[in-house]
Amino acid sequence: MPGASEGSYLTLQASAAYHRAMTTLATPSDLRPLFDAQHRASRAQIDVPLALRRDRLLRIRLLLDQHGAALAAAVQADFGVRSPQLTEIADLFVLRTLLSHTLKSLPGWMKAQKVRTPLYLQPSSAYLQRQPLGVVGVIAPWNYPLQLSLAPAITALAAGNRVMLKPSELTPRTSALLAELIAQSFAADEFCVVQGDGALAASFTRLPFDHLVFTGSTATGRKVAEAAAANLTPTTLELGGKSPCIVDASCDLGSAALKIAHGKLLNAGQTCIAPDYVLVPQGSEVAFGEAFSLAVARLFPTIAGNPDYAAIISPQHHERLLALLAQAEEGGARLQVLNPGGSSAADTARQMAPVLVFGAKPGLKLMEEEIFGPILPVLPYASIDEAIAYINARPRPLALYWFGTDSVARDAVLARTVSGGVTVNDTLMHIAHENLPFGGVGDSGWGAYHGEAGFLRFTQQKPVLVSSKWARGDLFYPPYGKRFDQIMGLLKRWL
Ligand code: NDP
Repeated sequence: MPGASEGSYLTLQASAAYHRAMTTLATPSDLRPLFDAQHRASRAQIDVPLALRRDRLLRIRLLLDQHGAALAAAVQADFGVRSPQLTEIADLFVLRTLLSHTLKSLPGWMKAQKVRTPLYLQPSSAYLQRQPLGVVGVIAPWNYPLQLSLAPAITALAAGNRVMLKPSELTPRTSALLAELIAQSFAADEFCVVQGDGALAASFTRLPFDHLVFTGSTATGRKVAEAAAANLTPTTLELGGKSPCIVDASCDLGSAALKIAHGKLLNAGQTCIAPDYVLVPQGSEVAFGEAFSLAVARLFPTIAGNPDYAAIISPQHHERLLALLAQAEEGGARLQVLNPGGSSAADTARQMAPVLVFGAKPGLKLMEEEIFGPILPVLPYASIDEAIAYINARPRPLALYWFGTDSVARDAVLARTVSGGVTVNDTLMHIAHENLPFGGVGDSGWGAYHGEAGFLRFTQQKPVLVSSKWARGDLFYPPYGKRFDQIMGLLKRWL
């Protein structure tokens, strides 16, 4: 842990306010008064001016500038092992980029959008007025606890909303520090953080939000959708699933393996858009295994004790992953454990060595559930049609990756599969593009955010028709007669 971040984190940790935040877990009965205050405030000020929206975003930017290192240290402490550099690139950099893009674009996004008016309504005019929805709830998971808490919050605040955030209980230090820092920078009726466990999260989903954003597993997402439906609360569900990676025969295997290893092992596979399994041309499994093994050694010369290689978040998640491997081995699969440093203590601090799995049969949990860890099944395919059919026989994935130079094969995969997003010849990177909406489809979720798509997700685009004094709506009034028939006849011909 670098001295500076350790120092500031320890200073914050010693403060009375931080201690209070660490021990202040909300109860279900705390939620409603907080919600009511936000709801009242949102109805009292519907027209949220640009200056106030900018000010809210700038407060978050200042918070990240002043406390980014302390937040990264808190994430590291929650994981056991997770480098501040990973938090810098995957959480803080993403948030700074989002803030900068949003601050620049906000004046344009807030403008009313004029729309063309059809002949029969002219000379009236029409536009879409962009207004805040009101109160937006955000539920975040633990894997990128800063990015996945603050990115939806920033976007919702930019759209003029109030925000209540419930981060994960699995990152208690990060959640407490966030709660403390947000409370210092925002009034509770603008933006507040409530801490607690899954039961509190369930109560949170029963609040009648104007919109609820949930990032987490598909199983919990179903419960969230059900609870929100009772209030007719619209949701954005950012879920997970099994994201496939296709290695085409035309690809440079060494380069593809390095990029796949990076995408798979970032945060030790605990990334929603990590490639879950890889499809390789039949006969190239061994070559892929060798290339992947070299790539792992290059990225992580050692596993145990390597500060760049994240730990699995909790003993329960670690045991879940070990159980997936045990079941696969019992089912006849071959495991290739990649432990470049050769340390026998590879599982120290839950730093789990990467494992390639060959010959995994359908029906294994490994082949049915999202893996969310450093395990990569390698599946051979005889033809691109077979690879596409395999993907299409399963729930629609959050991400899909394709590696190669054969544009005909690439276009076939793109045209004949549906996924939340795609990166060609790399992994993960589509999430970093500010102008690409990010979200899932089917079982991997619904609704997308990032960029203007996110702003619009949290905005009511209110259609407004301004009738002109020259407009002749009265031509369609009863009593219906000859004049009416003539006009309808003209309009029918015109349409
Ligand atoms: P979970 O679904 O277990 O938890 C996600 C959040 O939901 C946590 O804050 C959790 O609180 C809360 N929660 C728990 N029970 C309920 C409930 N009944 N109602 C409402 N909320 C509840 O997911 P994980 O935290 O394990 O995160 C991993 C999953 O998230 C993976 O499936 C991954 O793919 C997905 N994910 C998706 C992303 C995307 O953008 N599409 C990004 C990152 C992850 P608590 O932790 O306090 O129990």
